[in-house]
Amino acid sequence: MSGIYVHIPFCKKACHYCNFHFSTSLKSKNELLEALHIELQLQRDYLQGQVLQSVYLGGGTPSILETGELEQLFEQIAAIHTIAPDAEITLEANPDDLSAEKLADLRRYTPVNRLSIGIQSVHDKDLQWMNRAHNSAESRQALELALNAGFQDLSIDLIYGIPGSSDADWAENVALALQYPIPHISCYCLTVEEGTALHHFVKKGKAVPVDEAAAARQFEYLCQTLAGAGYEHYEISNFALPGRYARHNSSYWQGAHYLGIGPSAHSFNGISRQWNVSNNALYIKALQSGNLPFEIETLTPEQRYNEYVMTGLRTIWGCDTAKIAALGASFLPYFEEQAKTWIAQGHLYKAENIYRLSASGKLLADGIAAALFVD
Ligand code: SF4
Repeated sequence: MSGIYVHIPFCKKACHYCNFHFSTSLKSKNELLEALHIELQLQRDYLQGQVLQSVYLGGGTPSILETGELEQLFEQIAAIHTIAPDAEITLEANPDDLSAEKLADLRRYTPVNRLSIGIQSVHDKDLQWMNRAHNSAESRQALELALNAGFQDLSIDLIYGIPGSSDADWAENVALALQYPIPHISCYCLTVEEGTALHHFVKKGKAVPVDEAAAARQFEYLCQTLAGAGYEHYEISNFALPGRYARHNSSYWQGAHYLGIGPSAHSFNGISRQWNVSNNALYIKALQSGNLPFEIETLTPEQRYNEYVMTGLRTIWGCDTAKIAALGASFLPYFEEQAKTWIAQGHLYKAENIYRLSASGKLLADGIAAALFVD
């Protein structure tokens, strides 16, 4: 299993909560696309000829690109890598970019077979509060147009815990997801990350912080409602109908190798992790000079253990005692000793040598993982 991620670092508007790397100026778009091509060529051996099972265009907002630009990018990838005939090819898209014409062209001229659409909320007041570029009517229209264009592999993103948004508002968002035949739903809790506009507003008293209790209630409602509708909760933030898990993201969580192209993109080859500079101008300048602008870290056994615990606990696959033991002799006794407290509290359980979070444990996933980490 291996895949390629391409980061398209442009957006129409800056969402107040966002801490991804992006620019709202498209002035450098052509140069950036050329730099992506150079990086693809320079990194051609990174995956050692492995066949790609997935290609994921994320961002930023990849749907901001013209279809011709996307077509060219896919041609460049296919000229260097072998893409499995049944590979999952995902494009992240915002509703306001998805016209009937664009969707038809995506199907005709690109290999995209899966759309991940940033709906976030069906309430215009929430969308305005977050400074999203689209409104609720555009979200519904985008879903209908995507389905009409033949995109059956759809994923939507929703955000819960939005200050000023009630539990009833959240229930309407979940209802939207169930109103359409959408096999995959990603739901994220609003977080106030340092350096974001939202962080600044909260510090200045211009926005109220996230109400943790409301966020927890909304997450529980989400889990129960989607379970009732047949969705499997296969990662803390991800739900899918049986057999419709996101293959690209699942491969991250299962330790597969991947190559990340573009500013801020990360790559992993089983031994080391590397990440590109999060700056469009520096990225372009380096590639124009034939240099790869990344930092690299070789993972220690402790880091590999911590990563496994973090991702394992967040997923349906859990933490397997044999895999923990394979990472280092001291890790399993340590893990099992620390786990006792969480098991006693009902947040963690063990079944056939796999540790998984219980429903209550999922609310505390990051804290439990941190308690099981080694220094
Ligand atoms: S569209 Fe996505 S990447 Fe762009 S600013 Fe909004 S949340 Fe961030």
